[in-house]
This record gives sequence, C-alpha cells and structure tokens, in this order.
Amino acid sequence: MMKYFILTNNTEYELTRPVSDMAAFFAYQLLHDVSQMAEDDELVLLRLEHGNGRVGVVLEKEGNIYGSEEECQHGADVFGDALASGEVKRCIKIAVYKAFCQMTGVRPELPWGILTGVRPGKLAHKLVDGGISFTELPAAMEKSHLLPQRQGRLLRNICQLQKQLVADEERFNEAGIYIGVPFCPTRCTYCSFPAGIVPKDEESQQNFVNLIEQDIENVVQLISMHSLRVTSLYIGGGTPTSLNDRVFARLLALAERLKLPTVKEFTVEAGRPDCFSDAKLAAMEEAGVNRISVNPQTFHDRTLKLIGRRHTVTEFYRAYEKVRQSSITVINMDLIVGLPGETEADVLYSYKEAARLNPENLTIHTLTLKRGAELFGSQLSMEPKTAGCLVEQGQELAAAMGMHPYYLYRQHYMLGHLANIGYAKPGTESIYNIQMMEERHPVIGVGPASASKAPLRDGHHLEKLNMPRNVKAYGERLEELFMRREELFKL
Ligand code: SF4
Repeated sequence: MMKYFILTNNTEYELTRPVSDMAAFFAYQLLHDVSQMAEDDELVLLRLEHGNGRVGVVLEKEGNIYGSEEECQHGADVFGDALASGEVKRCIKIAVYKAFCQMTGVRPELPWGILTGVRPGKLAHKLVDGGISFTELPAAMEKSHLLPQRQGRLLRNICQLQKQLVADEERFNEAGIYIGVPFCPTRCTYCSFPAGIVPKDEESQQNFVNLIEQDIENVVQLISMHSLRVTSLYIGGGTPTSLNDRVFARLLALAERLKLPTVKEFTVEAGRPDCFSDAKLAAMEEAGVNRISVNPQTFHDRTLKLIGRRHTVTEFYRAYEKVRQSSITVINMDLIVGLPGETEADVLYSYKEAARLNPENLTIHTLTLKRGAELFGSQLSMEPKTAGCLVEQGQELAAAMGMHPYYLYRQHYMLGHLANIGYAKPGTESIYNIQMMEERHPVIGVGPASASKAPLRDGHHLEKLNMPRNVKAYGERLEELFMRREELFKL
C-alpha cells in the first residue's frame, strides 16, 4: 500500500518541494494524477492557506480534518514577494510537519529538523552574520528550524572553525579552482554522478585534455583580470587517475599553470586504487600536490565486488602505503555507511582499519541512492537508525584519532536523512572543501560537470555557471562558456 497526498489548491511550484520534503518523513508522496492509485492506496488532501501574517496547512483524510498554522514574519501577503526569502518555506515546512504529526499521531525524529537542503552550514553562517552569537546558535536553530541541539552544536563548531580557517574579510577575492575529469574505470552501483567510463585509447584521452588546456588558459586570464587570489586547487571527478600515466602527467603539468604562489593546497582525487600507479604518484609529487584522496569506502572485499569497484582491500593498502611514503603530506580517506550487504559490525571493522592507518583527513559518508544510480530503488540492508548510530560512532572515532569536523553536507535520498561529515587533524583541513561547500568564496570550475560560483556582496546568495556534463557538448560550447564565466566574475 502506498500513501499519497494531493495539493488541492493552486500551489506555487516553489512551494511543492518543501511540502513534499516534509510529507516524506511520514512516507507520503505527492500524487498528480489520482487515476494512478491502486485500490488499497491511501490518499490525503492537503491545502495551504495564508492571510493575516500566518500560513496554514489543512489535511483531510477520510472526512476528518487536521491542521496547523504558523506565524510568518512577512505580513499578510506571505505568498507574494516574500517567497524568495525562504521565510515562507520555513513556516510552511513547520506547519506541514505539525499537521502530519496531528493526523498520524506520530512525531518522527527529524535528524536535521526541517533543514532539507545540501548545505545546512549556510544557515549557521547566515545567523552568525546576522548577529547571533556562537553560544546562542544551537538554541536559535532549534527554535527556527526544529534542529536538534546536538546538530546545532556540530554546525556551530564547524562554522566557528571555518571562520578561523578562511577569513571572512578575504572571502570575495580568495578563490578555489576545481578541475573536473568526468571519467572512471568502472561505474560504482551506488553512483549517480554523470561520470563515463574512461576511453581506452590515448587519442581520445588526449583530446579531452586538449579541451582542459583551453579552459585552463582562459582561467589564467580570468584570474589576472579580476585580481583573484587562488588559494586552493583541486583535481576531482570522476577519477582523474583513470587517465593513463602519460595523459595524467600532462594534465598535472597543465594544472601547474594555476599553481600560483598563493596556492596553499593542491588536491588530487585518486579515489580508486584500481588505477593508481607509481608513475602517477611521481607525477603528483613533481607537480607539488600536497593533499590526496585514496578511498577504501569499505574494508570488505565482498562489498567492493557488490558495488562494482574493481579493486581489492589489499590493493587499497598498497596504494595507501605508497602515498604514505611519498612527499604528499595530507591523505584523505572516504568511508561509506550503509553499503549493500553491510552490517553494523562490518562498518565498525572499517572504522578500526581506518584508525589503524591514521590518515590526516577522514570523510564519513552515508549511502545515498539517487535516480541515476544502478541501485536506486533497491532495498537497503541497513536500518536508518543503525546508520544514525554509526554516524555518531564515526564522530567518536574521528575525535579519538585527534580530528575535528570541519565541513559537512547532505544529499537527497540519503539513508536516514543523515549527513556526510569531513574530519581533519588540526592544520590539515581542506580549504577547497570549505570554499566549495559553504559557497562564500569564488570557485572557478574547469572541465565538464564543473561549477563556477561567484558569491554576491549580500553575503548569502551567489551566481553560478554549470559546465555541460557531456564532454562533447562541453567541447563544442567552450567559447560561449568562457564568455559566460567571465560575466559571472564581473559582478
Ligand atoms: S569512483 Fe566515484 S564518481 Fe566514479 S563511479 Fe565510483 S562513485 Fe562514481
């Protein structure tokens, strides 16, 4: 049996998402066409109301009426210009949550309150910029967004640390650069990133890097035109190391043109040990890479097979050891909680192994199965509650390893509505991750599927340019994309 709701009044498109996000906590899905319902499906009628500075939600099920309303700071016309402010959405979310609680008689725990976006840290920065003290922050976020105080304290600590690491005063001219390589050796079954399988022939790989070369040349001009101080350089993907040794070395040599004296951090994602090589490691050392991601995801061979990664745990250990003995000083390791077939004990074993290897950075992800992932819609083997406990144990593990959380993000369709949390030993936090996640600094994207972001002077909005995901489309539109990116940074 499925549970559905329909919106009975004309609702602005922008409001349907917040309503659906909250109804999903009660397992209700938005239905557009009642003829699609099966006989035993359940249907609730949902109506939004507004007036006199209030928003209300009315639910009707089997002739019974349930409702809730919230005061909304924007006066009588709450569905007018105020929509863009987010305040109306916030009030509607709370009203929807309370109305469903009333109707169902259950009060599901909201691990992140009514925050359903990717970047909950932005709220903390916004409130602090608006005059809320760090001490008041957790209580303020609980009041406004039903955020549990433990998450409020986590966001508060991260926000406080980020302000020390990337100074607010410099935030309009200190930039990060991202170079995207949208290829991987094989496709992981949980992945929804639009990465393709790396072309085998060198000519196709070199043709791809020819496009990146043009892009980098344009960015060199852009940086000098706008006097941007580049502090971080990040080559990600996909898996940049899926390129062959020669092409990878050429890519790094090109990236060095962006490695200006102001660059403090140069990261390469070498996530997959199945395409790691001594030659690639030597090329990274030569180019001055000082941070690298080598990702086990799990320390169980049977899981690696299940998720379509072509390497073994032993190959991971080998790659890790080689990097450890190189001149690259910061190693990040990614783990995922909730992978198919894994139990709590499996994850705890992976935690133990990660601690034994003692990387400088550890990122603990929670499984996210978006549309586009091979496993989308399949039954998950781990209960959300177990995943939640493991994420908390991950926090304890990181603390025991001498690390602190320094950035986090969330995704739609995430197991248990949890979060991905990045931890670092003091002094090894990735500047790029902060710049990219908090969206308070300029980020210049190079390559297909990359994004350029220019923050606006109001401090909380930005202009963005997404490069096409498809390599061919990206290559054909380079000139136009360069012009649009230049416009972005004129703001
Ligand atoms: S390595 Fe990363 S980007 Fe590539 S398929 Fe796997 S999850 Fe996706």
